[in-house]
Amino acid sequence: MTAPTGSLLAAERLRKVYGQTVALDGADFSVHPGEVVAVLGPSGSGKSTLLHCLAGIVPPDSGSITYDGQELTTMTDARRSALRRTEFGFVFQFGQLVPELTCVENVALPLRLNGTSRKEAERAALGWLERLEVDGLRGKRPGEVSGGQGQRVAVARALVTRPRVLFADEPTGALDSYNGERVMELLTDAARSTDAAVVLVTHEARVAAYSDREIVVRDGRSRDMERAV
Ligand code: ADP
Repeated sequence: MTAPTGSLLAAERLRKVYGQTVALDGADFSVHPGEVVAVLGPSGSGKSTLLHCLAGIVPPDSGSITYDGQELTTMTDARRSALRRTEFGFVFQFGQLVPELTCVENVALPLRLNGTSRKEAERAALGWLERLEVDGLRGKRPGEVSGGQGQRVAVARALVTRPRVLFADEPTGALDSYNGERVMELLTDAARSTDAAVVLVTHEARVAAYSDREIVVRDGRSRDMERAV
């Protein structure tokens, strides 16, 4: 089997075993540029393991993962780290912002790590804070902002490097429904406008509703649910 035509990131027959636990048991996946794919399934079904394999964080025991025509599983660690830094963006359940830095410094950080000057990085960061409608928080530290505001800052930080793939693992899991929906709206709009592919792990149907396509994981196996339009 080959990856679906036009997919930017695709996986086939992924298997990952932790001790006695089969976390992935032949999972497939694919996402196109500009497409938001929700990975749904009950707790413990293998969603996070799938995301971590796709992002090159966890090596699968077997199976193949192709990103932009390159096989991820046989790349050197250095090359995989470089991809994560420059082409992938991440949003987690709890923003994981650096508490000592202001919001604008947090968003600028990935660019600073890639060698961009402070002035340039902070200018780009401010642009993203504006897009996420939290530019008023630029000088505040994460401890001084609400959970919903912090997640918007985290989304800005994930997109500031213009990643080609955005990985979001339960990005609204710690938010109330109003803030969760607003974060999803802003995240998916911003990603679509930059043609980024989004891998969105969630166990909530209301969050998955923001996706273009759903993949359901159960007992480590995936099933593509073509949504009826
Ligand atoms: P989900 O994200 O759907 O909740 P996970 O991918 O986190 O599921 O986990 C799938 C299964 O693999 C679970 O039974 C979990 O306990 C197990 N698992 C995941 N990561 C590890 C790990 N690092 N060590 C041991 N078991 C793990």
